Amino acid sequence: MSPKPQAFDVLVLGAGAAGLFCAGRLAEAGLSVAVIDQARKPAEKVRISGGGRCNFTNLYSSRANFLSANPKFCISALKRFRPQDFVAMVEAAGIAYHEKTPAFATHDERALGQLFCDGSSLEIINMLLAPLQRSSTSHIALSSSVECLNVKPGGGYQVTTAGGLFDAPVAVVASGGKSIPKMGASGIGYRIAEQFGHSLIETRAGLVPFTLQGALLEECKALAGVASKVAGKVGKALFEEGLLFTHRGLSGPAMLQLSSFWREGQSLSLNFLPDEGPLFDVLKAAKQSQPRKTPADVLASHLPRALAAWICGPETASQRLADLPDRRLRQIEESAQRFNLVPSGTEGYRTAEVTLGGVDTRQLSSQTLESLQQPGLYFIGEVVDVTGHLGGHNFQWAWASAAAAAEAIAASTPHRS
Ligand SMILES: Cc1cc2nc3c(=O)[nH]c(=O)nc-3n(C[C@H](O)[C@H](O)[C@H](O)COP(=O)(O)OP(=O)(O)OC[C@H]3O[C@@H](n4cnc5c(N)ncnc54)[C@H](O)[C@@H]3O)c2cc1C
Repeated sequence: MSPKPQAFDVLVLGAGAAGLFCAGRLAEAGLSVAVIDQARKPAEKVRISGGGRCNFTNLYSSRANFLSANPKFCISALKRFRPQDFVAMVEAAGIAYHEKTPAFATHDERALGQLFCDGSSLEIINMLLAPLQRSSTSHIALSSSVECLNVKPGGGYQVTTAGGLFDAPVAVVASGGKSIPKMGASGIGYRIAEQFGHSLIETRAGLVPFTLQGALLEECKALAGVASKVAGKVGKALFEEGLLFTHRGLSGPAMLQLSSFWREGQSLSLNFLPDEGPLFDVLKAAKQSQPRKTPADVLASHLPRALAAWICGPETASQRLADLPDRRLRQIEESAQRFNLVPSGTEGYRTAEVTLGGVDTRQLSSQTLESLQQPGLYFIGEVVDVTGHLGGHNFQWAWASAAAAAEAIAASTPHRS
């Protein structure tokens, strides 16, 4: 005989950022909620996010910070739950936070709007857990891998896990994407979506370092650890942030941002001196005023010396400007301000911060995140085809989509408890 299912008002599949936030709001509204997660601890990605300090939102989050096949979809939820709403919760919980100081000066003087905990991301997790801990009728089932979600003969949903069965009239899929399988990513949400007739937008790893091959990789290895400001471009996407050389290729915020726009075979264009005019003019002036200087000396007043030497090339770096023809100075400008390269790939889901693509938003309500073809079934957070830029936007989408679903569920679900 199969075990008796545990009955709740709402089942939330995934105890990550979106799932916990949605479940907490439902519990506060008086509903009984079961949150089911295969991990041993809730919200593991929140824990490691922002280097352990959780970049929990971005003050300037708007639709322009999101990628989706349906770019207007995110607007409704983002407008109804704003960064300031989450900040108010953080303040009410007594969590100290700060706005990150940009590592490199920005053109428009404005900081990047990225808010981090002063202490630890565990404070955010505790804040998310608190309403569930206060609810005597709610339950977080950990180490419980969701095997399937089925519609019960009389209506409502049943989730099967190795540890037991859970029933409820409403199910919320908050199981995230494919990024970092070691941390519990499974793709179950996509399978559930397909099971109920939803189409998927092809998934890709996003916010992920680039990999290189051949001679360029060897040169990068020699520069591993060197960081610099860069204006990086792929197609129409342009980001002016930090770049970090690694033993595998290129990382740092600018590269992670570009990776979400990049497709196999596309070229990146890098400007290592985005705040300077044409470098040729600077080198030409230096050639006249300080002819004994090397081009690497000139570049090193703007860039880390190892990077300056690499840009000039091994033969030229130590030559006197007086000995270099203008043609060579123009080549140095090209390398410094229009450096083109084609990455061999990315590090993939193993290290990607997010998964692009996912549940096609055309079959979801933008107001409530409910399936348009399966009443009572909701998709929130990263499993949906809405992906933020780096800088707190992904958590803002998790909170906003969770809040939209919770509001709709609380308004329409009769209390069982
Ligand atoms: C290293 C790293 C750093 C990041 N830093 C930031 C940051 O500072 N700011 C920011 O905005 N974003 C950041 N992100 C992105 C952010 O973590 C995600 O966008 C966000 O966690 C998505 O929330 P979610 O609830 O949709 O999914 P998740 O947080 O991934 O939660 C999904 C949950 O579902 C569970 N699950 C999956 N499959 C199953 C199954 N079969 N059965 C049961 N449970 C299952 C998982 O265990 C997981 O707990 C970072 C991501 C990474 C990887």
